[in-house]
Amino acid sequence: MALFIPENKILEIKNTADIVSIISETVLLKKAGANYVGLCPFHSEKTPSFTVSPDKQIFHCFGCGAGGNIFSFLMKQNAISFAEAAGMLAKRYGIEIPHQGMSPGRKRRISERENLFDINQKALAFFQHVLVEDLRGKKALEYLTKRGIVNETIQRFNIGYAPEGWGNLKNYFQKKKVSLTLVEKSGLISPNKNQSGFYDRFRDRIIFPIIDVNMRVIGFGGRVMDNSQPKYLNSPETSIYNKSRSLYGLNLAKQTCRAHKSVYIVEGYFDLLALYQHGIQNVVATLGTALTSEHIHLLKGYADKMILVYDSDQAGIKAAQRCIDVFLKEHVNFKKEDVFKKENVDTRIMVLPAGHDPDSYIFEFGADVFISAAEKAPGIISFLMDTTIKKHGLSIEGKIHIIADMKEILASIDDSVARSLYIKELSERIQVDENVVLEKVREISVQGTGVTAKAKSLSFVSTKDLKNVNNLKIPREEDLQDRGSKLERQIIAMMLQFPEILFEISIRRVLNHFEDNLLKSIGKIILEYKEGLSEQSRAAISKSQLDDYVCGIINSIDDNEKRCIVTALAIKENPWDRSGCLKLIAQFEGGRNRLKDDLLNKIRAAEEDNDHELLIKLLQEKQKLAVLNEKQKPAQKERINF
Ligand SMILES: [Zn+2]
Repeated sequence: MALFIPENKILEIKNTADIVSIISETVLLKKAGANYVGLCPFHSEKTPSFTVSPDKQIFHCFGCGAGGNIFSFLMKQNAISFAEAAGMLAKRYGIEIPHQGMSPGRKRRISERENLFDINQKALAFFQHVLVEDLRGKKALEYLTKRGIVNETIQRFNIGYAPEGWGNLKNYFQKKKVSLTLVEKSGLISPNKNQSGFYDRFRDRIIFPIIDVNMRVIGFGGRVMDNSQPKYLNSPETSIYNKSRSLYGLNLAKQTCRAHKSVYIVEGYFDLLALYQHGIQNVVATLGTALTSEHIHLLKGYADKMILVYDSDQAGIKAAQRCIDVFLKEHVNFKKEDVFKKENVDTRIMVLPAGHDPDSYIFEFGADVFISAAEKAPGIISFLMDTTIKKHGLSIEGKIHIIADMKEILASIDDSVARSLYIKELSERIQVDENVVLEKVREISVQGTGVTAKAKSLSFVSTKDLKNVNNLKIPREEDLQDRGSKLERQIIAMMLQFPEILFEISIRRVLNHFEDNLLKSIGKIILEYKEGLSEQSRAAISKSQLDDYVCGIINSIDDNEKRCIVTALAIKENPWDRSGCLKLIAQFEGGRNRLKDDLLNKIRAAEEDNDHELLIKLLQEKQKLAVLNEKQKPAQKERINF
């Protein structure tokens, strides 16, 4: 894994970068004892089980088991290789990495991504230049001014203009001697259909560069200035641009989102710019795609309240229905803050008065009116309830229709507590007995049709049971640590946290008697890692440099499952000392001797019963144990090299 980047460089990077500050950029972390906790960016959860240890510089999620060091975090989060993760950190902290020794394939992939960032950066400069300093950009600049966009905003968002014509950008790159085949990979130009050569993707459009939270230009959005179609045109997906993971404006909004703990989500570029100019800077745009669960994951790192802003009831209803599954899966939208823990994301649907979009609304009424309207916005389920009640009215027929419309939505709520609360709310609002609504929702769950197929297995609690809500099941480490015997896990944890003991583990051949093969191989990796260290590094492994040691072990593990087990066992704080460690080893060995005694008793019994078949089996087992014990005798002198 770490073959092509020298070990000293990896340590240099690791010692410069701090895992808490890197993870904090995308996950909201809170101090909890010696560690930090937050909502896991790798699985959906509402109670934080994602733990970061500043002392050991590792993270571990007790919910989904993900874990590792700063490199593994970046690899998993950005779907990149170890070398790229190391490169990313090195670049950020100004550490130079020699590239020799990297496999050609890897080198190519990294350099392709680097090239695409570079090409996008150059294209951004081109578009910006045309808008601000070129005659061709005049009409675009006038258009922006007419829409109330000031120069400062244009600069801040690096807005540009792609001029009319088929080859402006292509010629620019040609002049700069950039390979057009490479530029094609960025999606900025496309090959001509019937002849050779390329043409520009963006023509006569205002250009909005899409910049990620690491401040890299990953793609572009282009918007027309008239009514021609398509209104929005984005870069195609490339190895650096994934639209379901990217949100426009997050690079600039992230700090304000953190400060306000909330984020506005709008649809268009101009909506975003208008809000931004009016001082509402915790705003992102979805770039014409529906909100995905990846978007929500991304935003959860910055805010725990999300306000989706829509032009009209119809657009709002459509969007609410479209993302209901996504949101429910992400455990958001639970308005009953008193019942649910604070970590839930509170999601609101804000619908603007008829004839307005966020852009026109804020220019007409100002930020204060906008914010107070946002504060009154209902949660998704309440919003759908409101609109359904409004649509059908409270006549008898109306109520029947309301229940019919809402039952599927209610059945699709995974969380039984939330579901019961909403059933109660609906029954109160339309004055129908709670049990009647419950019955209808249950029917849906039993039929298990369409979107609610998953609802089949749902359990129902009555609102009376809600007093016990604080006992909601949370995945805890105990659930995850059913691997191997407790003693074997403790021994591995000890090896990770008290490296002094490795000598003892090695000469007493403790690992040979592990029953769990995975734990055994992890133990071997740890021993091998220490053996591979220089005399000096070995001496340096003490409590003060435990993080280097754990980081090194994690880097030497390619297997994800093993790495996760290592972080789970390393991150828990145990006050080890030598005598405690020796006691633990003795306990483990004692258990093994009991095994031998047990076997001898069974053999005696089988002899008395004349059970030959069983006797043969037991004798074979005894032989196996004897072989193990033989191996376990104190190792020869030359093997003791610690
Ligand atoms: Zn997780």
